[in-house]
Amino acid sequence: MMQQYLALKAQYPDTLLLYRMGDFYELFYADAEKAARLLDITLTQRGHSAGQPIAMAGVPFHALDNYLARLIRLGESAAICEQVGDPASSKGPVERKVVRVVTPGTLTDAELLPDKAEALLLALHQGPRGRYGLAWASVTQGLVHLAECTAQALADWLARIAPSELIYSAGCSTAFEQQLQALRHSGTLACPLSPRPEWQFDGALGERKLLEVLGAASLHAWNAQDLPLAHAAAAALLAYAEHTQGRALSHIHGVQVQRDDALIDLPPATRRNLELVKTLRGDDAPTLFSLLDTCCTGMGSRLLKTWLLTPQRERSAARARLAAITALRAGGDLAAGAGAGTGGDGAWKALRAALQGVSDVERITARIALRQVRPRELLALGKTLQKTELLAQDVPGQEPYLMQIFAALQPPAACVDLLARAIAPEPAALVRDGGVIAPGFDAELDELRAIQTGCDDFLLALEEREKVRTGIPNLRVQFNKVHGFYIEVTGSYLERVPADYRRRQTLKNAERFITPELKAFEDKALSAQERALAREKWLYEQLLDQLQPHVGALTRLAQALAALDVLCALAERSLTLDWCAPQFAPEPCIEIEAGRHPVVEARLAETSRGAFIANHTRLNANMRMQVITGPNMGGKSTYMRQVALIVLLASMGSYVPARACRLGPIDAIHTRIGAADDLANAQSTFMLEMTEAAQILHSATPHSLVLMDEIGRGTSTFDGLALASGIATHLHDKTRAFTLFATHYFELTELPARARHAVNVHVSAAESGSDIVFLHEIQPGPASRSYGIQVAKLAGMPAAVLQHARHTLATLEERARAGELQIDLFAPPPEPDSALAAPSAVEEALSTIDPDALSPREALEALYRLKRLG
Ligand code: ADP
Repeated sequence: MMQQYLALKAQYPDTLLLYRMGDFYELFYADAEKAARLLDITLTQRGHSAGQPIAMAGVPFHALDNYLARLIRLGESAAICEQVGDPASSKGPVERKVVRVVTPGTLTDAELLPDKAEALLLALHQGPRGRYGLAWASVTQGLVHLAECTAQALADWLARIAPSELIYSAGCSTAFEQQLQALRHSGTLACPLSPRPEWQFDGALGERKLLEVLGAASLHAWNAQDLPLAHAAAAALLAYAEHTQGRALSHIHGVQVQRDDALIDLPPATRRNLELVKTLRGDDAPTLFSLLDTCCTGMGSRLLKTWLLTPQRERSAARARLAAITALRAGGDLAAGAGAGTGGDGAWKALRAALQGVSDVERITARIALRQVRPRELLALGKTLQKTELLAQDVPGQEPYLMQIFAALQPPAACVDLLARAIAPEPAALVRDGGVIAPGFDAELDELRAIQTGCDDFLLALEEREKVRTGIPNLRVQFNKVHGFYIEVTGSYLERVPADYRRRQTLKNAERFITPELKAFEDKALSAQERALAREKWLYEQLLDQLQPHVGALTRLAQALAALDVLCALAERSLTLDWCAPQFAPEPCIEIEAGRHPVVEARLAETSRGAFIANHTRLNANMRMQVITGPNMGGKSTYMRQVALIVLLASMGSYVPARACRLGPIDAIHTRIGAADDLANAQSTFMLEMTEAAQILHSATPHSLVLMDEIGRGTSTFDGLALASGIATHLHDKTRAFTLFATHYFELTELPARARHAVNVHVSAAESGSDIVFLHEIQPGPASRSYGIQVAKLAGMPAAVLQHARHTLATLEERARAGELQIDLFAPPPEPDSALAAPSAVEEALSTIDPDALSPREALEALYRLKRLG
C-alpha cells in the first residue's frame, strides 16, 4: 500500500495528497506533519519505513469539505485520492486514483465557493520586451479572458482581476519571480502563486487548445487572434484547470479579449478609496456594492460586481442596460400580455418574485460539465428550468435588450423533461446513498426496488407463520447490518425451537437463528439492494451523459437569468432610492444636478441623522477644475466621492443618485485621498501620497476624472503647499483632466484667478458664537476661513489648548496681513536660459545676418564664421 501511495505522491509533489482508506482520508510523511499543523488534527504513526516510523494524520471522509475549506483559505491545494477498484475482488491494495485536485483558483464545490464572488485562476506569461500575456477564468463560468499588457500596466491588471490563484512559468527569470513576490507583499496580489512547467506556456499550443475547447476553426469570431503572449498564458491556464478537474473543460463557450483601452481605468487606489466592494477597513459593508446588491441569485450578485468593476468606455452596453432598467421600471402594463400581478407596478416586481429561489444555474451547469454535480443540484436545476419556462412567456415590452434576454431564457425542452423524469422528488445528498433516481424512470430499477419493498410484507408474514408453527408468542424476525436477517427467541422459549433453526448468535437472554427460507430471502434482498444501488449509479452516469449536449444552452440561460436579476435589482434600487437615468453626451462634461453620495445617504437614513444635502456639479471643456475649500468635516470628501460614484454608476449602465445627470466620455477615475500609513508597505504616508500623485499625473488625460483630497498634508507646510500648487497647476495646464481638488491650503484659492478653467467652491458652514454648524452645501467662491479651531472644539479639545491656538492664529493672520508671508505661488519657474542672461557671441553674430541679402558664397562663409564662434 505504501508503494502505491508513494507512486501517487510522486505525481503531486507540491500538493497535499489525501489518500482514501476506509472511512478516512489519510496523509503521510511531511504532508501529515503539515496538515496536523494547519488543521490542528492529531499526528500519529503507521508502520515503519527504513527504520523510521511513518507520520500519519487523517480526516473522516464525511468531514472532508470542512477541512478542504480551511486548507483553501490558507492558500493550500489538496489532491483527493479515491478508491476506484472493488475491494472485494482486488488482490493487494485496492486500486486508487487522484480524482481531482482542489486549489484556491479552481474551486467548483458548492460548499467551498462563496456565493457572491468568483474564484478566478490567472495564468501570467512573461514575454519579450517587457510585455505580458494574461489569461484568466473561473472554472465554473466557462469564459476565458485574454489580455496583453506592458510592465507598467501589470500591477493594475492584477489588482483589477484579483485572482484567487496565479500560475506562472517555473522557468521564468528570478527578477520576475521577485517582482511577483513584491506585488504579493504590497497587497496588490493577495493569492497563492503556483509555478507550472515552462513548456505549458506556449502560444501555438494555447491557440490550439482554445480552438479545441471552443470547437472552432479560428479565433477571429472572438477577435482573439494575434495575441501570442495571451495564448501562451491560456495554454497553461487550460492545462492547469484540466489537471485539477481530471478532465477537459467542455463547458467553455467563449473567449473575451480585454484591451487596455476598452475599460474605464479604476486603479487599485480608486477602488479602495471609493469603497466599491470593500470598506477602507476591509469589511464587505457598507460599500457601493453592498448597497446595490439586492440580487435574488448568486449569479446575479457576481455579474453585478463584474459590471461595477469593469465599466466600459464605449457606452453601448451601458445604454442597453439603462434602457432595459427603464423598461422594467415602467413595465407591467406595457407587457404584451401582462402577467398577473404586474399591474401598474413595474415589471421588475413580478420578475423578482419569480427569481426568488432560482438556483445557481451557472455553477450547476459547470458541475454537470465536470461531472461533479450532486443529485439535489439537479433537482434544483429542474425546478428552476420549469420556472424559467413560465417566466419566459411574458416579455415585458419591446425593449431590445430585454427581448434578447427573454429569448435566451427558453430552457431546452428535452432537458427539462429529462430532469423531471429522472430525479426523485427528495433525492439523497450523494448518489452512493441511493434513492436518487425517480420511480418510473427505469423499469429494471423499479423491479429491484419492488423486491426491497416486498421485504417488509414477506417478513411480517414469515413472523406470523413461524409464531404459529413453533408456538413461540414473542418470536421476532429482525435485521442488523452485521448479522443480516435472524429470528430472535428469548431464553424461556428455547426448548420450542424447531430442528431446522440454525443458531446465528447467542445473547445474554436470547438466541438468534436463521432458517433456510430466511437465508434464501436474505440473499435475494441484499443482492437486490446492491444491484439497485449499482443500477442507480449507472443511471446517474447515463443521465450526466445525456445532459452534456445541453451544457451550452444552459450556460446561455444562466447568463440571461443573471443579467435579468441584475437589471431588476438595479430597477428596484433606482425606485427605492429615488435615482434618475443619466444621459450620455458626446462632448466632455460631468453635469450633475442635486447629486448625492448613495452610501453616506443610506447611512444617514439608517441612523436618522437627518437628510443628505444634495449638491450640483458642473464641469465641462471650459470648466475643468474645482478648488474645494472649507472646514474639516464640512463634506469635501463626501462631495468628491459622490461625483466619482455617480460617474461610475452611470458608466456601468445604472440609474444614479441625482435629479439629473449628463456625462461625456470618461476614460479613468483617479483618486488620491489621504489614507492611513501603509505600514505593510514600509512606505511613509508622504511617500505613498507622492507616488500615487505622480502616477495620476503620468496617466490622467483630458477625459479622466481626478479626485485630489488634501494633497501635501504629509509634509511640512511650505513643502506641502508648494507641491500642492505645483500639482494643481500641472493638472490644470498640462493634464487638463476633470479635477476636484480639495485642500486645506487656503493659498490655493488664488489659482482660479490665473487659471481660466478652474473655479473656487467651498462647503458652507455657519457660525454661531464660537461654535460651527456644517451645512454641507457646495457654494461658489473660496471658504471665508478654515474653522479648524471650531472643529477642534467640537472634537472636545481642552479649553486651554483652544485658547492658545486662537492666540497663535491671530498673530499669524496679523503677520500675513502685514505681507510677511506673501509669495506668488503660481509664478512660472524661471526658464533655464532666461532672457535676462547676456546674449552669446553666436547670438550676436546671428543677429547681424540678413539671409535674404547674402549670396550663396557669402552664406557659406557666414556659416564657417559662426562655426568658429561656437
Ligand atoms: P471633509 O472631507 O470636508 O472633512 P467629509 O466629507 O468627511 O468632510 O464629511 C464629514 C461628515 O459629514 C460625513 O461623514 C457625513 O456624515 C457628513 N456629510 C458630508 N456631506 C454631507 C451632505 N452633503 N449631507 C449630509 N451630511 C453630509
